[in-house]
Amino acid sequence: MKQVAVITGAARGIGLATARKFLAEGWRVVMLDIDGETQDRAHRELNDPDNTLALQCDVSAPDQVATAIDAAVARFGRIDVLVNNAGIAIFSPVMETSFEDWSAVLATNLSGPFICTKACVPAMLAGGGGSIVNITSISGTRASTLRVAYGTSKAALMHLTKQLAAELGTQGIRVNAVSPGPVDTAMAKKVHTPDIRADYHDAIPLNRYGTEEELAEAIFFLGGDRASYINGTVINVDGGFAATGIGLASLRGAD
Ligand code: NDP
Repeated sequence: MKQVAVITGAARGIGLATARKFLAEGWRVVMLDIDGETQDRAHRELNDPDNTLALQCDVSAPDQVATAIDAAVARFGRIDVLVNNAGIAIFSPVMETSFEDWSAVLATNLSGPFICTKACVPAMLAGGGGSIVNITSISGTRASTLRVAYGTSKAALMHLTKQLAAELGTQGIRVNAVSPGPVDTAMAKKVHTPDIRADYHDAIPLNRYGTEEELAEAIFFLGGDRASYINGTVINVDGGFAATGIGLASLRGAD
């Protein structure tokens, strides 16, 4: 029986590229996204109805997640990998960040992975084990302005990754995280102005944004059996961005 990956936030961006990667490697894919219309379009374009299932679902709503995971198990009979990729970014200074914005970011970026994990674990255990990949961010490692909610949610998701690895590892479920630097997706276009984009290019040793496909490669590796002894780890896929704490342009001799 083909292995099954559940991918949240799969309508576009990193989630959709990850769905493509798992399909190309012979897996079945369950796509979950709050934006049902965009996801249905992406699902049609994948053009692989036997191996894909697209379900509209808000990952921060436990009832919706439970219904979706029940439907996934009913359709494909197993869950091997969960990719907690759905996320939102609201960038604003702390004093202009409303409690509603703060709560919305934490609900999707932190509670979502918690809820989806709890929903998928029983099916993983029934199949003898599995693996979970949480998509965090370099914003969870390095603090910056405007990211009080987003950066905090991603830092907490890194710790949730370790908590889950400690507890679920003993039951045959590995839990790891992929931490992207800037990737040219709709989310990045929304929050990165031209100035921000230019500064990112300057601050990243590889001098460019990552691609969705580069993220999907790392996510697929961590999710699958080739990473069978990797548990509780965060892999940065960021062109070296997180490594360059004092990467001042003047020190590097840049213009
Ligand atoms: P996108 O915004 O392009 O795609 C994310 C998808 O998730 C959208 O379709 C979005 O729908 C959906 N989504 C949002 N909230 C929910 C929810 N509550 N339940 C289900 N689906 C939801 O994001 P990216 O592909 O850029 O990012 C994917 C992940 O990677 C995120 O976790 C992000 O934080 C992380 N990341 C991205 C970086 C980047 O530069 N792009 C950098 C570092 C980390 P809708 O459009 O309706 O909100």
